[in-house]
Amino acid sequence: MFRYSRRAVALVWQTSRPLTVVLAVATVVAGLLPAAAAWVGQLIVDGVVAAVQAEGAVALAPLFWLVALEGGIMAGIAGSQRAIQTAQSLLRAQLGQRVNVMILEKAQTLQLAHFEDSEFYDKLTRARREASSRPLSLVNRTFGLFQNGISLTSYAALLLGFSPWAVVILVAAGLPQFVSEAKFSGDAFRLFRWRSPDTRRQMYLETVLAREDSAKEVKLFQLGPLLLERYRDIFRRLYREDRNLTLRREIWGFVLGLVGTLAFYATYAWIVATTVAGAISLGQMTMYLAVFRQGQGAVSASLGAIGGMYEDNLYLSNLYEYLEQPVTAVHGTRTAGERPGDGLRFEGVSFSYPGSEAPALQDISLTLAPGRSLALVGRNGSGKTTLIKLLAGLYEPSAGRILLDGTDLRDWDPETLRRRIGVIFQDFMRYQLPVGENIGAGDVERFDDESRWREAARRGLADDFIEELPGGYHAQLGRWFQDGRELSGGQWQKIAVARAFMRQGADILVLDEPTAAMDAAAEAEIFEHFRSLTRDRMAILISHRFSTVRMADEIVVLDDGRILEHGSHDALIAADGTYARLFRLQAAGYR
Ligand code: ADP
Repeated sequence: MFRYSRRAVALVWQTSRPLTVVLAVATVVAGLLPAAAAWVGQLIVDGVVAAVQAEGAVALAPLFWLVALEGGIMAGIAGSQRAIQTAQSLLRAQLGQRVNVMILEKAQTLQLAHFEDSEFYDKLTRARREASSRPLSLVNRTFGLFQNGISLTSYAALLLGFSPWAVVILVAAGLPQFVSEAKFSGDAFRLFRWRSPDTRRQMYLETVLAREDSAKEVKLFQLGPLLLERYRDIFRRLYREDRNLTLRREIWGFVLGLVGTLAFYATYAWIVATTVAGAISLGQMTMYLAVFRQGQGAVSASLGAIGGMYEDNLYLSNLYEYLEQPVTAVHGTRTAGERPGDGLRFEGVSFSYPGSEAPALQDISLTLAPGRSLALVGRNGSGKTTLIKLLAGLYEPSAGRILLDGTDLRDWDPETLRRRIGVIFQDFMRYQLPVGENIGAGDVERFDDESRWREAARRGLADDFIEELPGGYHAQLGRWFQDGRELSGGQWQKIAVARAFMRQGADILVLDEPTAAMDAAAEAEIFEHFRSLTRDRMAILISHRFSTVRMADEIVVLDDGRILEHGSHDALIAADGTYARLFRLQAAGYR
């Protein structure tokens, strides 16, 4: 039940030792002082009673000293509570950041398939939503429990002077409320967990309704009211459940709280009767009443803290479930192939996406030697992008193998492999960063290298319009930040292609249709640059334009995940198959 408490404390300790120490010391002080105040209060009342009954002159000084002492203790309580609050709020900021960084660092180690798996995505969202506040809450409650425990022990020590039964009543009266709290925290957690797909859908609708990249379409298609209604519906459903739980929780809390009130007043009557009988002094009566009342507060606070710790533990289980998600980290270590210069080989490669039955690729065999270029053609959904994803190591083949320089991709060191392959997908990222950095993203080692930006932009045909932008290569792109500019689709694509040209170290370059929005002449010119740059490298191109495709040394026609035809443009035309038919169809369109 409290599996994660120790880890939470360790996490806080690692986050800031000084603050944890301050928190611990202030907690002990805040725990001890209230009983001391009650004790001094008793001395004052008894002193006053004695003074009133005494005859003749009374020395007030000792009483004043006691009052001053109680004042001092109160100041000490206030001070220690402030110290607790200060330490907590500083820790909250640091811990929130730390946990978020842990979540993001973990995200870097995940595979693409994880991000596409909705169940896993739920874990990630749940971890992100609650986890940054829960560890501190758990620690606060642990310390709170500790503080109340100290107070309670000191009250119990005082109360024992009256009767051990009073101590028993004090503790027993708090139990029913505790049981109900624990039950409802469990319910609240289960509710939170099971509806996280709904919460995620709500977050998604929020994004669609309030982000610049969807605003255009939402407006034009008047989707706003419809999506907003869905958003409201989800809220209504969630709210109904929340309300029911809250009502049940509070009603039970009130009813069971009455048990405590009853116990208090019964004990009150008992103490009054004992005082009247002369068994205890007036000062003792005041002290016992104060101690009993505060003791009750401490009991319910402790039990509440335990209930809360249980709840925090449940939420932390989410965080650790996410952080401990196994990532298949078995990867190779080769930094050079067995047969350098052998190029790329697909040998009987098949692949199905996780959770889908129909294979996206079936029995693909092909080779590509350094210095050669390959074009992939085929209908939408024929498996072109999937082939590239396998090549880039984003997924592993379900059957068969892919070799680079004679060595299976799985045996390559992933870092080396990534450095050797440069891919621009059709859904490339449009970073909300300066133009230059958008190009520099293609090679992290040269991210800031202005001369390389310029060179890459020239090859990607992006230099002309970039130089016209105010600020040139330093112009901010996107609308999220101040003075950001939006580019046209074709201009963005030129940036993306320039990004590919940044990658001079890569010996396999892939353009997966990032040129579709450019005019045919620009696409052809870019591919020409691409080929000239890739003299001893391998270039792979996906395009629907036969005017570009025909420039490639080899052409592979994919259909339904299989290779339908394979050869040079001339050979495929001569064979008069699908490629030739599609080529003539497109050519006829230009006549
Ligand atoms: P192409 O690039 O030729 O248009 P893809 O390689 O993107 O085609 O898609 C091949 C097939 O794999 C399609 O049937 C598509 O629905 C499926 N597919 C693509 N991406 C995924 C994915 N992430 N998860 C599951 N199926 C996918």
